[in-house]
Amino acid sequence: MSATHLPQDETLARFAAGTLEPATRLVVAAHLEAAPQARARLALFEATAGTLLDTLPPTALSDDALDRTLALLDAPPRAAARPAASRKPPRHAARLPAGVTLPRALADCTVGRWIWVGPGVRWSRIGIPGVAHANVGLVQVAPGRALPEHGHGGKEITYVMSGAFSDASGRYGPGDVCEADPEVEHQPVADARDGCICIIAMEGALRFRGLLGTLLRPFTH
Ligand code: ZN
Repeated sequence: MSATHLPQDETLARFAAGTLEPATRLVVAAHLEAAPQARARLALFEATAGTLLDTLPPTALSDDALDRTLALLDAPPRAAARPAASRKPPRHAARLPAGVTLPRALADCTVGRWIWVGPGVRWSRIGIPGVAHANVGLVQVAPGRALPEHGHGGKEITYVMSGAFSDASGRYGPGDVCEADPEVEHQPVADARDGCICIIAMEGALRFRGLLGTLLRPFTH
């Protein structure tokens, strides 16, 4: 897998600074696993962020910081406090085609079962531990099928896990990311042979047109 479309510098800088929304951060983390060029670029931003931190004056710890730290160490591990429920749904419910695996970045996330949202399009919501309303999920598009043309209420970032898609800005293959902001309206079309499986995170809602837009709306909020 060799990525040709990397995140924008601003996105990597915000990743390095820890200021990305959790859903966007998850998509960038998945991409970084597959894209050594992006990891190298990220290292530059991390070095810059580290230099900035070095120039800040040290902050004094509060008086009870040591007590609170020791209390945390004494606390029982979380797993022991919550026994596993026998009927719990599987953590990763969406079945993937042979040879397609979830990025390690999703190991602690829940991945819901596939939900039909339109002809040749299915969606699976991703849950991020500790985040109440992460707007992120897997989208699988059948070969040659298109997502409905849509605009964006905020930034959208897409990571291609397998297959490929194209829109007016180019063709995106395995390992690539595609970023769209509120000025962009596009209609991604899946590869005619392989279709595509992507992880998509959205800040704000997608704005779809027509009936499909109405169908998809409950899954993109
Ligand atoms: Zn979009």
